Amino acid sequence: MPDAVVVGSGPNGLAAAIAIARTGRSVTVYEANDEVGGGARSAELRPGFTYDVCSAFHPLASASPFFRTLPLLRHGLEWVHPDAPLAHPLDDGSAVVVERSLDLTAAALGADGRAYRSLMAPLVPRWADLYDEVLGPVVHLPRHPVLLARFALRALPSAALLARRFRTAGARALLAGMAAHSFLPLEHALTGAFVATLGVAAHAVGWPVARGGSGAIARALAAELREHGGVAVTGRGVQQLADLPTARAYLFDTSPAQLALIAGDRLPPGYRAALRRYRRGPGVFKVDYAIDGAIPWRAPACLRAGTVHVGGSFEEIAASERAVWHGRTAERPFVLVGQQSLFDRTRAPEGRNVVWAYCHVPNGSGEDMTPRIEAQLERFAPGFRERVIERRVTAPRDVERANASMAGGDIANGSHGGLQLVFRPAIRLDPYATPARDIYLCSAATPPGGGVHGMCGYRAARSALRGVLA
Ligand SMILES: Cc1cc2nc3c(=O)[nH]c(=O)nc-3n(C[C@H](O)[C@H](O)[C@H](O)COP(=O)(O)OP(=O)(O)OC[C@H]3O[C@@H](n4cnc5c(N)ncnc54)[C@H](O)[C@@H]3O)c2cc1C
Repeated sequence: MPDAVVVGSGPNGLAAAIAIARTGRSVTVYEANDEVGGGARSAELRPGFTYDVCSAFHPLASASPFFRTLPLLRHGLEWVHPDAPLAHPLDDGSAVVVERSLDLTAAALGADGRAYRSLMAPLVPRWADLYDEVLGPVVHLPRHPVLLARFALRALPSAALLARRFRTAGARALLAGMAAHSFLPLEHALTGAFVATLGVAAHAVGWPVARGGSGAIARALAAELREHGGVAVTGRGVQQLADLPTARAYLFDTSPAQLALIAGDRLPPGYRAALRRYRRGPGVFKVDYAIDGAIPWRAPACLRAGTVHVGGSFEEIAASERAVWHGRTAERPFVLVGQQSLFDRTRAPEGRNVVWAYCHVPNGSGEDMTPRIEAQLERFAPGFRERVIERRVTAPRDVERANASMAGGDIANGSHGGLQLVFRPAIRLDPYATPARDIYLCSAATPPGGGVHGMCGYRAARSALRGVLA
């Protein structure tokens, strides 16, 4: 009988399992897929071309207070830093670039350099303390109250409000692209949090990719789990508690709806109803490409960046995200483009590359966004289509089929709207614990939410270690 069973082996499931295993307790992870990793996996697009199935850029993983305590580099993980974290091309053929250096970035923003610096400079040198606070428990006594207050000043407002401090189209577009990672309309409060978190990370820790593909993160986590005696069983989808061995604690790296279904009447009806009320976020429509050469950007500076935000001006990106929020697909979608293989040459043959691109769509949308994604790429990189050797399309229903925790293509396991960004899956003092003493939720549907950082899993494990596993 293991002390703990974890259902799902995404970064949070593995983090939860490691946090428990390294206290000497026994843990078994059950994963529906044939390999571990959930949203941190890579695969072959065609022989010689490796693509990231889900996550690609890992500012959160490299800043994660829990991952930083693990010897992941010893287990083969290697971070590769693109020359610049981010570029944002504009219609006039120029591009705004976020460099690792805050000074260089601010200098290139010209008239908006000072505003950009005042947004980022107070937080960048204190990044480790900041991430301890914002990726830590929701309700806690801050150890760095002044720093947290400075963050709140930038995080609480909407991106639209932050953008009022900027005059140039380039700087405003840059803000919009970072804020759009929230999947929220840019007028919503708290979208500033995404600008501050991702912007600070760009300067403080970078937006690295994993050499050889994001699967290297999952493999390193799995190796660390094994080293502490933990076991991962793959190809074992869990439908009901009876599918699992008896254990002292059960931790679910699943959606709240799935937890309600699997745990059934072990959870009281009121809590189950709260889990069912939990709102899904929009979905993603993704296309991965094998291409000849590189993307023929009109602005060559884009070739220096790992991530390129394709969507034009602040107003256009805001319109794209607003449409999705209101249940419509955008005519000119905001497209997140990854060119990992430019910097990690293990991923594609010489002279060729892999491109990762996705846009936001309403949850479960059946619309084929490929033509619109490619139209946006052509707009800033004329001739892109002619370079395509192969494309692999992943629609929201494919995302869900591959991972039940991303229902309808919702890669953040729940909307960030309203209070759900902070209070997930329901308003509770300990969001990881459930009314059943031995059942915990450890997925991105708990704070601090989506992304590869393992903090939801780590926090859920801490809750179980204080509770039923004490
Ligand atoms: C296209 C895309 C791009 C992304 N880009 C980034 C990025 O660049 N950077 C970043 O940080 N994040 C990114 N993300 C988000 C990131 O992948 C997720 O937020 C993260 O993986 C969440 O981790 P998790 O452990 O909570 O859940 P998941 O990674 O979703 O893992 C859940 C696991 O549980 C398994 N499971 C679910 N139900 C059951 C069941 N009943 N029985 C057994 N197993 C089950 C699933 O198969 C899956 O393996 C991206 C995601 C996608 C899809």
